[in-house]
Amino acid sequence: MRNVALVTGSSRGIGFEVARQLAVRDCSVIVTSRSKDTATAAAEKIGSAAVGHELDTSDEGSIMTFANWLIREIGRLDILVNNAAILFDENESILGTSAETFETTMRTNALGPLLMTQAVLPLLRSSKAARVVNVSSGAGQISSMTSYAPSYSISKTTLNAITVMLASALPFARVNSADPGWVRTDMGGQNAPRSVEEGADTIIWLATLPDNGPSGGFFHDRKRMAW
Ligand code: NDP
Repeated sequence: MRNVALVTGSSRGIGFEVARQLAVRDCSVIVTSRSKDTATAAAEKIGSAAVGHELDTSDEGSIMTFANWLIREIGRLDILVNNAAILFDENESILGTSAETFETTMRTNALGPLLMTQAVLPLLRSSKAARVVNVSSGAGQISSMTSYAPSYSISKTTLNAITVMLASALPFARVNSADPGWVRTDMGGQNAPRSVEEGADTIIWLATLPDNGPSGGFFHDRKRMAW
């Protein structure tokens, strides 16, 4: 039986590349976007191993609707890649961050991955090799934190804390955070040094870890990073 993988925010960028590579590795892949048509179009680009579905990770109702569909129609999940995220405050100061930007960013980038993991837990518990990869960022690393993108950076620090707690709560699974580096996407811009293939590498590695692989870590280029 093929492994089933869900990649949130996989209509473009790093998420699309991760979904494409998992399909090449013989997974059935669920591709998601906030738009049903966009998700379907992205899945069609990947081919018959992929199916598209609408999902807004900032909306608990959307997460529950999606998870109910997944449990009912697919009935299996082995790999969850929490990739969807927004970056709204690249040029803002922590002193000027608005409540709206902070709340929307935290809801999408940190709470969304937590609620998503909770919602699909029955399927992950049934998997022989459950893997959860939270796509984080070097911007969330406290030990090297600057004033860059305050809401975004804090959301990724929070996501890393969620990774540690989930790894402890789910000993049967391998749960890790990945930093893809600075990647040429809509979010990263065209001046970024890395391709989507390079950005996807550590995520794919963590999504396909062997049973004795690490859990509860934060990785960049397959190497463990400080928090
Ligand atoms: P993009 O902006 O290129 O793509 C973001 C994806 O997330 C899209 O597929 C988008 O889908 C989806 N998305 C956004 N908001 C939501 C939402 N509320 N619900 C569901 N899906 C949503 O980003 P990247 O590919 O660059 O980034 C992917 C991940 O890598 C993110 O977690 C990001 O923080 C991280 N990262 C990226 C870096 C970079 O340099 N690019 C650097 C470090 C980390 P749609 O609009 O179709 O709904």
